[in-house]
Amino acid sequence: MMEQYLALKATHTEYLLFYRMGDFYELFFDDAVAAAQALDITLTHRGKHLGEDTPMCGVPVHAAETYLHRLIRQGHKVAICEQMEDPAEAKKRGSKAVVRRDVVRLVTPGTLSEEGLLNARRHNFLSAIATAGEETALGWLDMSTGEFWLASVKPNDIATHLARIAPSEIVLAASSRAQYQVAITQACPESVVTERDNVQGLSERAEALFAACYGSAAPAENLARAPRAAAAMLLDYLQATQIDTALRLQLPRFDHQTSTMEIDAATRLNLELNRTQSGAFKGSLLATIDMTVTAAGARLLSQWLSAPLIDAAPIEERLDAVAFFTANRRCGEDIAKLLKSVSDVARALSRLVMDRAGPRDLRSIAQAVTAYRDIADLLKAAATDAPPALFAPWHQPLPASIMAVQADIEQAIEAQPPLIIRDGNFICPGYDAALDQARSLRDESRRIIAALQQSYSDATGIKALKIKYNAVLGYHIDVPAGQADKLQSPPFVDKFIHRQTLANSVRFSTRELADLAGEISRAAETALHREHEIYARLRAQVIAIAEPLEQVAQELAMVDTLSALAHLAMARDWVRPKFYKDLRFDITAGQHPVVARALVADNKPFIANDCSLTASDGAQLLLLTGPNMAGKSTFLRQNALIAILAQMGSYVPAQAAELGLVDRVFSRVGAADDLARGRSTFMVEMVETAMILQQATPRSLVILDEIGRGTATFDGLSLAWACIEYLHDIIGCRTIFATHYHELTALQERLIRLDNITMRVKEHGGSLVFLHEVGKGAADRSYGIHVAELAGLPDVVTQRAKDILATLEENRGASTLTASLDGLPLFEAHAAPPPRADKLREALGDIDPDQLSPREALDWLYRLRKMLKDE
Ligand code: ATP
Repeated sequence: MMEQYLALKATHTEYLLFYRMGDFYELFFDDAVAAAQALDITLTHRGKHLGEDTPMCGVPVHAAETYLHRLIRQGHKVAICEQMEDPAEAKKRGSKAVVRRDVVRLVTPGTLSEEGLLNARRHNFLSAIATAGEETALGWLDMSTGEFWLASVKPNDIATHLARIAPSEIVLAASSRAQYQVAITQACPESVVTERDNVQGLSERAEALFAACYGSAAPAENLARAPRAAAAMLLDYLQATQIDTALRLQLPRFDHQTSTMEIDAATRLNLELNRTQSGAFKGSLLATIDMTVTAAGARLLSQWLSAPLIDAAPIEERLDAVAFFTANRRCGEDIAKLLKSVSDVARALSRLVMDRAGPRDLRSIAQAVTAYRDIADLLKAAATDAPPALFAPWHQPLPASIMAVQADIEQAIEAQPPLIIRDGNFICPGYDAALDQARSLRDESRRIIAALQQSYSDATGIKALKIKYNAVLGYHIDVPAGQADKLQSPPFVDKFIHRQTLANSVRFSTRELADLAGEISRAAETALHREHEIYARLRAQVIAIAEPLEQVAQELAMVDTLSALAHLAMARDWVRPKFYKDLRFDITAGQHPVVARALVADNKPFIANDCSLTASDGAQLLLLTGPNMAGKSTFLRQNALIAILAQMGSYVPAQAAELGLVDRVFSRVGAADDLARGRSTFMVEMVETAMILQQATPRSLVILDEIGRGTATFDGLSLAWACIEYLHDIIGCRTIFATHYHELTALQERLIRLDNITMRVKEHGGSLVFLHEVGKGAADRSYGIHVAELAGLPDVVTQRAKDILATLEENRGASTLTASLDGLPLFEAHAAPPPRADKLREALGDIDPDQLSPREALDWLYRLRKMLKDE
C-alpha cells in the first residue's frame, strides 16, 4: 500500500495527498505534518518507513469538505485520491492485493465547486495570463457558475484588469512569472499563483481542448493567438485538476473593455470599492451598498461596481429599472420576498453537470423556476405604461421544457430532501410505482420483524428480548446475559443460533430472521437503486435545459440587483443622476456613502458638500486646502465614488448629480508604503502620478491628494505645481487636487479654470473646530501644529514648532513665486522639442527604390547601417 501511496505522491508533489482508506482520507509524511498543523488535528504514526516512524493524520470522508475549506483558505492545494474498486474486488486478486486507487481531482483555490468551499456572494475566478508573440491576453472563468471571459490586454494594463477580476488563482507559464509578479502583487496579492510548464504549443492544442469541453461546437479557431492560448491554458488546467469530471462552461465571451470604465489597481484600492485597503469586505463601498437578497444578485452587483459603464444608453436602462422599483415600491418588496426562496441556480447547475450535486440542488432549481414565474406575474401586473427595457425577458413566457422539468422535479423530490443521494429517501411516495412497491416490501418486512420479536418474547418468556440491527451482524436477537441460558437449552437451542456474547447481552439469530433480513435488504437495495435511477433521469433532464435555466438564473440575479439598488436609493434617500454629453460635473449636497453611514451609526451628522467641476460655470480643477482631519480625503473620494456609482447604474448619495460621462477615474490618495515591492513611498507616488498624467483624457475624473508630500518641501511643491499646470493646460480633465502646500493657491491668478476651495474650520478658545464644510477660497494656513496639539504632542515641542514656522514664513511667499515663474516657458515649449536634424531620414528620402539595382540596394543598406552606428 505504501508503494502505491509513494507512487501517487511522487506525481503530486505540490499537493497534500488525501489518500482514501475506507471512511477516512489519510495523509502521510510531510503532508501529515503540514495538515495536522493547519487543521489542528492529532498527528499519529503508522508503521515504519526506512526505519523511521511514518507520521500520519486523517480526516473522515463525510466531514472532508470542512477540512478542505480550511486547507484551501490557508493556500494549500489538495489531491484527492479515491479507491477505484470495492475492497472485495481487490481481495479476489489475493488476500494481500491492494485496492486500486487513483487521484480523481486536484482541489485548488480557483477550481472549487462545492457550496461549502465557496463564498456564495463572491465569484471564484481562475485566471490565466498568456502571451503569444507580441500579444498578451487574459482569460478568467468561474468553474462554479460557468462564466468564461477572454480579453486582449496591453502588458502594462495587466494589473488594472487583475484588480477588477480579483481571481483566487492565476495560472501562467513558469517562464513568465517574473514578468507579471509585480502586477499580481499590486493588483491581487492574495491570489495563489500556479506555474505551468506545458505552455509550449498550447494554442495549437486549443482546438482539441475546446472540443473536449464543448463537443463539436469548438470555436477556438476564431480567436486571436493570445486569447486562444489563455483559453487553452485555462481548459488545460481544468482538465488537469478535474481529471474525468464533465464541466459546465459557457463559451468564452470576449471582454472588449470599450464599454466599461477602466479603473486601475491603485485607484480601486484607494477608493475601497470592493474591499478596503486592508483587504476586508466590511467597510468597502460594496459592503455599504449591497442590499441584494440572493448570492447571484450579490455577485452581479459586485461585477457592476467593478466595471461601471461608459455609455449613457445602458446606464439609463439600469437606472430606468431602478426608478421603476422606486415608483413601484410594493412590487420591489414583494419580489425581494420571493427572491429569499431562490437559491444559487448557476452553481447548482454546475454541480449537477459535475455530478457533485444532490437532490436538494434539483429541488432548488425547481423552486427558482416557481419564484421566476411569480416574479414575472408581479412585474407584468405592475408595469402599466412602458416597462423598463431590461424587463423585456420577463414578459416572454418560459420555455415549455423548463416548466415540464420543474413540474416533474416537484412531484418527484421531497420538499426537504437530504443533501446527498447516497442513502436515498428523497423521492416522494406515489411518484414511482416500482419504488413504492420496493419500499412497501421493505416496510412490511420491518413490521413482520416487530411481530417476530413479540412472538419470540412470548414463546421464550424473556420480556427483554429484542430484535436489533447493526452493521456487523445485521438483524439479530439480543437478550440480557442473565437470561441467555434459556435460549441455549432445549427446546430453544435448535432454533436460536448463538452469534456473539457480550458483557451484558448475548446475541442470536434464527433461520426465519435471516430470511426476513435478506428480504428487507433486497427490498431496500431495490428501493435505493430505483431512487438513484430516478435522480439520474431528473439530473439528465435538467442538464438538457441548462442553457434556458442559465437565462432564468441571470434574470433573477439582475432583478435582485436592480431592486436592491432601488431599495438602497429609498433607504438612504439617494437621487437619480442625470447625464449630459458635455464635461460637466455638478454635485449638490453630496455625501461619502461609507463615511456617512459610519457616522450615522454613531449618531453623528455627515455634512453634505457641493462640488462643481464644470468649466463653463467656473472651474474644472479645484484646489482644496485645509487642515488635517478636516475632511479633505473624504470630499475627494466621495466625488469619485458618486461618479462610479452613477455609471454603474445606481442612484447616488446627493441631492442632485449632473454629470458628463467619465471615461476613467484616477485616484491617488495619500502615499502608501510599499516596502514589500522594494519601492520607496515617493517612488510609488510618482509612478502612479506619472501613469495618471500619461493616461488621463479630457473626459477623465482625477482625484489627487497631497501629491509631492513624500519628498523635500521644495521638490514636492515644485512637482505638485507642475502637475497641476499639466492637468489644467494640457489634459484639461476634471480634477480635484488636495494639498498642504499653500503656495499652490496662488495658481488661481494664472490658471483660468482653477478655483481654490477650502475645508472650513473655526478656532474656538484656542482650539480647532472642524466644520467639514467646503467653501470657496484658500485656507489661511495649514494648522498642522494645531492638529499636533490635539494629538497630544508635548507643549514645548509645539511651541518650538510655532517659532520655527514663523521664521520660515517670513522668508518665503507664494505670490512672489507666481510672479517669478511667469517669465519661464510653459509646456508647449517643453512638450514638443524641435526635431533633430535626422541624416538617416534624409538619406532614406533620397533613395528611389525603382531605380536601384540589387547590388546598389545592398550598398545602401550597408551605408544606412553605418550612419545609424555613427549617430
Ligand atoms: P488628512 O489631511 O489628515 O488626511 P483629511 O482632511 O483628509 O485629513 P479626512 O480623513 O477626510 O480628513 O476626514 C477625517 C474625519 O473627519 C473622517 O474620518 C470623518 O469622521 C470626519 N469627516 C470628514 N468629512 C466629514 C463630513 N463631510 N461630515 C462629517 N464628518 C466628516
